[in-house]
Amino acid sequence: MTKRALVCGAGGFIGSHLVKRLAADGYWVRGVDLKEPEWEASQADEFMVADLRDPKAATEALNGGFDEVYQLAADMGGMGFIHSAETQIMHNSMLVNVNLVEAAARAEIDRYFLASSVCVYRDMDLGESELTEDDAYPALPDNEYGWEKLYAERAVASYAREGRFQARIARFQNCYGPQGTWKGGREKAPAALCRKVAESTDGTIEVWGDGTAVRSFVYVDDLVDGVRRLVDSDCSDPTNIGTREYVSVRELVQLVASAAGKEIDPVWVPGPVGVQNRNFSNDRIESLGFDPKFNLAEGLAHTYRWIANQVTQRP
Ligand code: NAD
Repeated sequence: MTKRALVCGAGGFIGSHLVKRLAADGYWVRGVDLKEPEWEASQADEFMVADLRDPKAATEALNGGFDEVYQLAADMGGMGFIHSAETQIMHNSMLVNVNLVEAAARAEIDRYFLASSVCVYRDMDLGESELTEDDAYPALPDNEYGWEKLYAERAVASYAREGRFQARIARFQNCYGPQGTWKGGREKAPAALCRKVAESTDGTIEVWGDGTAVRSFVYVDDLVDGVRRLVDSDCSDPTNIGTREYVSVRELVQLVASAAGKEIDPVWVPGPVGVQNRNFSNDRIESLGFDPKFNLAEGLAHTYRWIANQVTQRP
């Protein structure tokens, strides 16, 4: 029998890639979002434009019977957005999550997937050993986005404990790739750097911070593969999905410059950088066969090409 999936946030970056993957895996898919995907038509069998802050819209989205719900809808952006839109994030994303868990429980679905984030973890010192999923507690996220994700995780887990559905919770690392937000204030570091490098005519770009913050990034196709593996597994505990390749922001700038074939001299300026260091265990997702195919240089080459193309086509 064809499985039915509801993808919430299907008009967004990761959601639209996930819809493609589910369609390729033979699912019947309904997408729901405030907007349709910006870059190409959705591959969902049905696409509903709706505001999931409205409980009635959440109930309607769940109408028709689903095996799996993938909840990726969130008021979301990079550090610039996260640090300037705290109440917006708390209000909007919380309402979406509250409405969807309740509607999904009433609709008697089998599995509920939540896209959480490594922003649930505290800041780390350089050289600290890996944090495992259990180290999210005692909790000290760096920003309200992380606290809202922890709340959403707990909401999903509490419904699952009541036997209303099975929970699958992924904590995504920074995700990047083609068709992600690359301008407008919500873009994340890899996309912002690709845009700045593509636009630079004098070999300089401004970059927030001093270049020492350490990060890891996961290419969107790999992340979506991790999501599918997690949902298909028996693992109901929160699970990090990311790579083991860590770079400083300074190194990230140079990788983007190489992808562009340009010499780039960053000018470090004050700005919202977020945490200083990240280092997470990926043992749990790797135990489910997750094995990222794209290293950062390869993934950035694809991403840079796509963003440079958008920059050139911009009126
Ligand atoms: P995105 O902003 O591209 O997608 C989120 C989508 O949610 C958007 O299309 C937006 O319109 C939709 N949405 C927001 N409010 C809504 C509402 N009220 N009703 C209906 N739809 C609504 O973001 P993304 O990068 O694709 O992220 C997807 C999920 O993964 C989010 O939950 C995000 O927090 C999580 N995540 C992403 C990253 C990353 O690096 N991109 C990292 C960690 C976690």
